[in-house]
Amino acid sequence: MLNLILFGPPGSGKGTQAESLVKKYGLLHISTGDLFRYEMSNDTPLGLEAKSFMAKGELVPDSITIGMLKNKVDAFPDVNGYIFDGFPRTIVQAEALDNLLAEKDQSISGLLELKVDEEEIVQRIKKRGAVSGRADDNDENIIRNRIQVYQSETTPVYDYYDKKGLSHSVEGVGSIEEIFGSLTQKIDSLL
Ligand code: AMP
Repeated sequence: MLNLILFGPPGSGKGTQAESLVKKYGLLHISTGDLFRYEMSNDTPLGLEAKSFMAKGELVPDSITIGMLKNKVDAFPDVNGYIFDGFPRTIVQAEALDNLLAEKDQSISGLLELKVDEEEIVQRIKKRGAVSGRADDNDENIIRNRIQVYQSETTPVYDYYDKKGLSHSVEGVGSIEEIFGSLTQKIDSLL
């Protein structure tokens, strides 16, 4: 099985690249941001709980996020592998993911980081906000808070997998096709 983590700040293009990667490698795409937005649009208790954190650009607490992720993974046991997008975002989540996969005699094959600098990200998210209507994409303070949270809480996850020899980095600025090419080159070297 091929289990990938697509890593990078908000607005780095993870969702766009994940769409093409799932087609090429036959993986299940699991985006915790998408799962939370789905719950919110259905006004479920989980969605209501997540809403206040998302609106501020803060992380939803680990226990809630890990529980939701686990349910999704457990619901699709017969896949070729998973592509995790926007998860793990903390060390606690990374450890929980490793344990969850270990219970299934599986592990992370690699983490792929999309490198994009902060100003480029802010501009991209604002553009996306005009189309997506996402509240957290339409307020510069919230966007900058999300980037701050990424830097303080999420970047350690790169080092966590780097220590295991699993982290890889590609340039996240360029055409969608160029970036896809860099990602697939790395992924093919993991196979
Ligand atoms: P995203 O679509 O990945 O940018 O996520 C949007 C928002 O959902 C984030 O700003 C968080 O509030 C929440 N979220 C998504 N994934 C996670 C996660 N792994 N841990 C905590 N909060 C998350």
